[in-house]
Amino acid sequence: MATSFIDKARIMVKAGAGGNGCVSFHREKYIAAGGPDGGDGGAGGNIILQVDDNLSTLMDFRYKRKYVAENGVDGMGQRKSGKDGKSLVIRVPRGTLVRDLETNEIIQDMSGDEPFVLCRGGKGGWGNTHFTTPTRQAPRFAKSGLPGESLEVVLELKLLADVGLIGFPNVGKSTLLSVVSRANPKIANYHFTTLYPNLGVVYVDGGTSFVMADIPGIIEGASEGAGLGYDFLRHIDRCRLLVHVVDVSGSEGRDPAADFDAINLELKQYSPELAERPQIVAANKADIMEDSSLLEALKAHVEAKGYPLYTISAAAHRGTKELVYAVANRLRELPPVAVYAPEYVKRPPKVDMSQPLEITVEDNVYLVEGPWLQRLIANTNFGDYESRNWFDRMLRESGLFDRLEAMGIRDGDLVSMYDLEFEYQR
Ligand code: GDP
Ligand code: MG
Repeated sequence: MATSFIDKARIMVKAGAGGNGCVSFHREKYIAAGGPDGGDGGAGGNIILQVDDNLSTLMDFRYKRKYVAENGVDGMGQRKSGKDGKSLVIRVPRGTLVRDLETNEIIQDMSGDEPFVLCRGGKGGWGNTHFTTPTRQAPRFAKSGLPGESLEVVLELKLLADVGLIGFPNVGKSTLLSVVSRANPKIANYHFTTLYPNLGVVYVDGGTSFVMADIPGIIEGASEGAGLGYDFLRHIDRCRLLVHVVDVSGSEGRDPAADFDAINLELKQYSPELAERPQIVAANKADIMEDSSLLEALKAHVEAKGYPLYTISAAAHRGTKELVYAVANRLRELPPVAVYAPEYVKRPPKVDMSQPLEITVEDNVYLVEGPWLQRLIANTNFGDYESRNWFDRMLRESGLFDRLEAMGIRDGDLVSMYDLEFEYQR
């Protein structure tokens, strides 16, 4: 069964690189050489995630898989800093889980309205104006910008709804949602009508409200991946309460009690925990019920298992108010919608140090540069002891200090690498 509903996507995101610092000297007519005036590079743009309630699927991510924020502009003469790169805001539906592709760890649960910075842009490099000292009046060097962070992530939609509607196709789930909320789901008299989950806000007297989700029909065998249902079961993972809609009209020759058990078995196979979720049974299509014994049998069956049952006709708006009250009352006793805590820990990247670093000496300043060093610095949190230690260890392992010694570096000379400067100490 083809479906255009996309609830999982894999994308690559990359923040912008910082612009390079500029080497420049002030020039005026008749003045041979002025002071250094090279400006700084601008910072790279961030990758930012933001919830957008106009989105209900991850469809936009099906074809566009790469998201890159703008780089910072290089610094210029006359102390002009380069412009910062624009951040890229990626809009996602509410309830999108962001996972690291490699480890599957949750990076962020996009459930709230706060924007989330997924990747930070690289810092811009300093222009040569920064490197003037009393003994160094004309620094002929500047710093390169740092690369932005990049990641491969999996987006996974888990709707944020208090109540999930479950039940076979065609039992009246969409109808019920449209009747109790202002949502406008597709309603049609054939199976598999709902391809998109629909969310509706149900307003109850006294100012309370809850969110109800109409999830595409679960079909038998869904939990084994047989059909449409399986993909959709994850949407009700977060629901606090399930309203289990059963067709009691007997019009399709179905046995309501058997339907009820079949759906619950599907739930259990998908997730035992989900099968334990509180349920309220809505016995629907009572208006065209020919044989009330089916309803009686269902009622006895579910009540024996401890589920309350409400007889309704969604189409005729009968019994729906009582059902809504019962749902609202039950929700009051239940814990709030689950928000997933981040599990992701940034790991130091694997750094391939085989490429030798470039070292240039200028006025007792040892300028060290190279692609891997750039990455190393961009990934080190210098405010964190562990991270600093790791950085130091990597530098030592790379043989950099031995090379500096061989070049004749002395205690007190300056070692300069990108936005980092320190006095050499043996
Ligand atoms: P879903 O697949 O569970 O979402 O079912 P729908 O809401 O799309 O409804 C399927 C069909 O049943 C539609 O033709 C509805 O008009 C009809 N239907 C829904 N509720 C009732 C009801 O209470 N009584 C009657 N007679 N028909 C209903
Ligand atoms: Mg439907």
